[in-house]
Amino acid sequence: MLTLPRIGQGTWDVPESGARMQEAIDALRTGIALGMTHIDTAEMYGNGRAEEIVGEAVSGIPRDSLFVTSKVLPGNATYDGTIAACERSLKRLRMDYLDLYLLHWPSRFPLKDTMRALEQLVRDGKARAIGVSNFDLDDVREAQSYLQNVPLACNQVLYHLRERGIETRLIPYCTSNGIAVVGYTPFGRSRFPRPSSRGGAVLEQIAAKYGKTVRQIVLNFLTRMPHVYTIPKASRSEHARENAGAAGWDLEQADIDAIDEAFPVEDGPLATI
Ligand code: NAP
Repeated sequence: MLTLPRIGQGTWDVPESGARMQEAIDALRTGIALGMTHIDTAEMYGNGRAEEIVGEAVSGIPRDSLFVTSKVLPGNATYDGTIAACERSLKRLRMDYLDLYLLHWPSRFPLKDTMRALEQLVRDGKARAIGVSNFDLDDVREAQSYLQNVPLACNQVLYHLRERGIETRLIPYCTSNGIAVVGYTPFGRSRFPRPSSRGGAVLEQIAAKYGKTVRQIVLNFLTRMPHVYTIPKASRSEHARENAGAAGWDLEQADIDAIDEAFPVEDGPLATI
C-alpha cells in the first residue's frame, strides 16, 4: 500500500509565467515545507508547462523527501506512447523517476497495452508505482487483470462534498484491494458551499468549534478514511498554508455525522470534472 501525506498539492491551471508563476512556485515550496510533499501533475497541464514548474519549485529539495505523481494522456497511451510520454515528463520535471505514474482517464487504445507499458516503467526504474485516474469500478478491475507483477497502486478520482458517490462502492473496493484513492478538486470549483447555504452554515459552525477554517474542515473530512488522499491546488502561499493546516488532527464523529447529513452521498456512475 502506498504511504503518502494525506493532503498533497495539485498543479492543474498553475499560472505559467511572470509574477503569478513565481507566486505559485513559492506556494508549492511553502506547502512542501509544511509537509504537503505529495505533488500531483500531468503532461496535460499547460502542455507540459506545469511539470516544468514543478521541476523548478522542487529544485534543491532532496528527491527522496518528495512524492511526485504524473499522468499519461489517453491519446498517448499506446505501449510505446506511454513509455515515451513518461520519459518526456521526467525530462520536464528534471527527475530520474516518478513515485507514481497514472493513465489520466480511460483511452481508446487497448488498456492491456497501457498497463503493460506502466509495468515496464516500474521494471526500468522510471516509476515506483502505477495506477489509473477517472476509472470506475469495472475499469479498475480490468486494469488490475492486466498487471502481472506490479500491483495497481492508485485510482485518482473526483471527490468533494457534493460528489461523494465513490464512497458507496469504489472506495470500499479500492481500500480492500490495497489501492489508494486520491481525490481531486476537493473544493468542487463553483460548487463550493456558500456560507449562506444550509451546508455552508454547518461547516462554519464546525470550523468555529475547532478554530479552523471551513476549507480545513472540508479537506480533513475528505481524508477521514484510511487510504483516501486529497490534492488541493493552491497558487498562493496563504492558501497552501491554510491547506497544510487541515492535516494532523481528526474531526469528532458527531461532526462527521453532521457533514454527512448536510452533504449526503448520492449513488451513481463515477463523476468527472
Ligand atoms: P481545487 O484544488 O479544488 O481548487 C483549486 C482552486 O481553489 C484554486 O482557484 C485555488 O486558488 C483555490 N484554493 C486553494 N486553496 C484555497 C484556500 N485555502 N482558500 C481559498 N481558495 C483556495 O481544484 P482542482 O485544481 O481542479 O483540483 C486539484 C488538483 O487535482 C488539480 O490541480 C490536479 O492536480 C488534480 N486534478 C486531477 C484531475 C484528473 O482528471 N485526474 C482532474 C482535475 C484535477 P489559488 O490557485 O489562487 O491559490
